[in-house]
Amino acid sequence: MVDGVIRFQLGRIFISNKHMRETFKEYAIQEGIKLKRVKNDKVRQTYKCGADVCGWRAHASWMIDGMNFMLKILSDQHDCHRVYNNKEATVKWITSKFEKLVKSNPSIDVKVICDLLRESYKVSIDIRRLYRAKNRALKKLAKDHAKCFGYLRRCHLKGPFGGVLHSVMSLVANSRLFPLAVCICEKETQDSWEWFLNNLKNYLNYPEGKNLIFMYDRQKGYYARSIYVNFKLTYKSDHYKKLFWRAARSSNIYYFQTCMEEIGIIKPDAKKWLMDIDP
Ligand SMILES: [Zn+2]
Repeated sequence: MVDGVIRFQLGRIFISNKHMRETFKEYAIQEGIKLKRVKNDKVRQTYKCGADVCGWRAHASWMIDGMNFMLKILSDQHDCHRVYNNKEATVKWITSKFEKLVKSNPSIDVKVICDLLRESYKVSIDIRRLYRAKNRALKKLAKDHAKCFGYLRRCHLKGPFGGVLHSVMSLVANSRLFPLAVCICEKETQDSWEWFLNNLKNYLNYPEGKNLIFMYDRQKGYYARSIYVNFKLTYKSDHYKKLFWRAARSSNIYYFQTCMEEIGIIKPDAKKWLMDIDP
């Protein structure tokens, strides 16, 4: 990520090919110009201003250390006019600038993003590109949420004291479940769950006003059964039945996906039918 106003001077160092590309892209948006990359390989990049009348040009190539790039030719004068609907401001670029803002205000109006872009970067972006950028940020937010998905488990304890063991399993990056917290309560009630989850929320220092998402094993079973009732109307064989329940009972995403893939190989329609259900 490149921050601040970019001014080039001879001898400027770029730490990689990617760093160089990002810097020039950012510069093009900042200046309201379109850049043409006339040379681009492992060891050098040469840029020209996209406007025919303009003589701006920059060239950087590999330094003797074989790692960094250095700006070696620079003709830093533009004779062209600013373009406002800059194609360099791609969906990906807009998302990178406004991801945080959209994540903290998912219902933000794209017009606000439009105004901020005009103020901070002097670019005006058509509404379709803005919607696509916002959706991209929302998808990333959904992914973040999926990562902190918690599974609630409970089991009844046998022995002289009885009681119920409550636990929260969390899905970690490698799709394994690990226990986040456990507690023992006298019996399983709405109150005991609430007490347990509130303590957990405090312990995790989870921000107020943000909801933690939990999936309860019994609800999951019930939900799966109600889906299956409909699923079997269309896809009848016993083999589907086996695969369906293996997918539904799977406690990690990888295993779930493997089962879904198997269903998909035998019958793509059946997989699509299941994947279209909004959980
Ligand atoms: Zn120019």
